[in-house]
Amino acid sequence: MTDQPDRRPNIVLILTDDHAAHAVGAYGSVVNTTPRIDEIGTNGARFDSCFVTNSLCSPSRASILTGTYSHVNGVTTLITPIDASQPTFITQLREAGYRTAIVGKWHMGEGAGHNPEGFDYWDVLVGSSGQGEYWSPRFLSARGERVEQGYATRIITDLAIDWVDALAENDDDAPWCVLICHKAPHRPWEPEPEHADRYTDPIPLPGTWDDDYATRSVSARRAAMRIAEHLSQTDLKVDPPEGLGYEELALWKYQRYMEDYLRCVASVDDQVGRVIDWLRARGDFEDTVLLYSSDQGFFLGDHGWFDKRFMYEESLRMPLLLSYPRAVAPGQVHDGIVTNVDFAPTLLELAGVAPHPRMQGRSFAGDVLGGPAAPPADGMYYRYWEHDDSSHRAPAHYGYRDHRYKLIYFYNDGLGLAGTGPLTYPAEWELYDLEADPEETRNVYGEPAYRQVREELKARMWREQHRLLDASHPSQPVPELIAAGGDGGDDSDDDGDRGADRLGEPGGAA
Ligand code: CA
Repeated sequence: MTDQPDRRPNIVLILTDDHAAHAVGAYGSVVNTTPRIDEIGTNGARFDSCFVTNSLCSPSRASILTGTYSHVNGVTTLITPIDASQPTFITQLREAGYRTAIVGKWHMGEGAGHNPEGFDYWDVLVGSSGQGEYWSPRFLSARGERVEQGYATRIITDLAIDWVDALAENDDDAPWCVLICHKAPHRPWEPEPEHADRYTDPIPLPGTWDDDYATRSVSARRAAMRIAEHLSQTDLKVDPPEGLGYEELALWKYQRYMEDYLRCVASVDDQVGRVIDWLRARGDFEDTVLLYSSDQGFFLGDHGWFDKRFMYEESLRMPLLLSYPRAVAPGQVHDGIVTNVDFAPTLLELAGVAPHPRMQGRSFAGDVLGGPAAPPADGMYYRYWEHDDSSHRAPAHYGYRDHRYKLIYFYNDGLGLAGTGPLTYPAEWELYDLEADPEETRNVYGEPAYRQVREELKARMWREQHRLLDASHPSQPVPELIAAGGDGGDDSDDDGDRGADRLGEPGGAA
């Protein structure tokens, strides 16, 4: 274990919007390079199994801030604003003497009770329903609303750096925490001109581009997130060449979409580099917890889709890189399951501050410090609440993922932008064996060989759902193993094994 540092660390959380791990060099991207973002992992730790618990902007941000799941913090969808008075890791840090700030995307509501609270300084994007703008963005702070001329990714970084530098100028030597929350690379993907010539060569297609959804649920097939059909003219910005057939047009759209998305990421990479260089120039890099992540993943043509929402891997996985050279040895790679709910208790532990008792996450500070660590997670619980919104038509679902399997229940009901409606579509299940089928193209829920696995996962999901104080949808039958009073993967006799190890092999006697 590295010696405990004398000095409390500063904290910089750089949070992007919709930056998929498979568009980060450190995660093996084949479509772009991100050398400056990658540096954080090289200097510290990379997490290969970091997952979002509700793959949508506002809910993920609320979970990161509060260390709780959507059903606890109340931000289940894009239209359920946060009660900003609830405890967060920021309020905990501030009580412990930290100076705290957030700059950039907030997107959890506007107005009294919904604006940022608990920050010494907040300066956040407004406009476009809280999504903010790439160019000449509008900001709201305690002093009111204004427009900043220029490009959002750059301005947000400037404002964060200026705030920290001003602390030193005022002889304030307290530790500080700043959240640098970019709009990029969120829709509508408007890049800076200096990156306009990048990625013009044909961008490689993902292996699942031609997914025919053959064994997938009707719920998944219904989603209006297909590149070929659902990208808008605003997204594409230029008219396609005349005379293209359906498949040629789809490929043209993919190229256009990816060019702009990756160019927006290029600006993020530039600005992450600026933050690293600035921390080094201040002599603060060693004593700063620098964390890079995105509020969720994103489909980059995977399964023919753009956007997120689904519990499938590309949307579920978050990039997570962390450096803190004073206490965290470089070059670490962690494969244990962590989630966005874990960020708050982790940052608090690294700062030597107790988590709020309401927080539900597992601190992974011990994993990177090399000392005593919290027991590894057996799996993770997921719930996407925003059912059937008018543009993406993604169905409400919940599920459970461990190191090998993923179970999903599309209950097809709940709060959506169109309001709570009747159960229009039947509930459906999916099950993926991620070892045999890492690209999730074969739903094995109905296959007899997976019956045992399926029933055990249902029981484990049920237990985790109730442990986390969520409720099952009324349409879901009580799992057989729960109804029978069986073990069902109960972790009370946890011997430290991964949950997956306790499951039978498909087709085996189990
Ligand atoms: Ca997002």
